[in-house]
Amino acid sequence: MIYGPIPPHVDPRKLADRSVSLAGELQLSQFSRVCELLTDTAGHVRAEFAFSRDEQKVAVMQLKLESEVRMICQRCLDEAAIPVSGEYLYAIVTPGTDALHLPKGYDALEVGEEPLDLLALIEDELLLALPIVPMHPPEECQQPAGLLESESSKNAVTRSNPFSVLAQLKRDPNV
Ligand SMILES: [Zn+2]
Repeated sequence: MIYGPIPPHVDPRKLADRSVSLAGELQLSQFSRVCELLTDTAGHVRAEFAFSRDEQKVAVMQLKLESEVRMICQRCLDEAAIPVSGEYLYAIVTPGTDALHLPKGYDALEVGEEPLDLLALIEDELLLALPIVPMHPPEECQQPAGLLESESSKNAVTRSNPFSVLAQLKRDPNV
């Protein structure tokens, strides 16, 4: 097995032939589409790729992602540190392949002549892994206990809404 840092572009089939594993820490700030949703772009994403061929000689790629991001808690409207992680298993297929033939448990990942953009893939998966309604764990949230659910959501609407927060973030030239 060969280990190395994460290059931006790879040929996944060649790496699968050699059973290459790649691991590295990337700056959150380099993923601009993710950062648009965060209150703070400091931090890292830990990513691990493992390439191999399965019994049917299909090139497969395993990916593990781990990060912690800062978003506005939709319960108390204070900043919350949200752990984000995911594990993925892809089968590398040529574009147009019928994904129904794939063994169960694989996501089809179409890769043609162009190399695979690992950073774009990480960013896509991070975006999907972010919570739609970010919240503190109940014990860390500053929202007073016992407040009725309907009351808290009414307050949330009048005090701020996630779209105005997003709009502010987008206006900030540093983001
Ligand atoms: Zn909270």
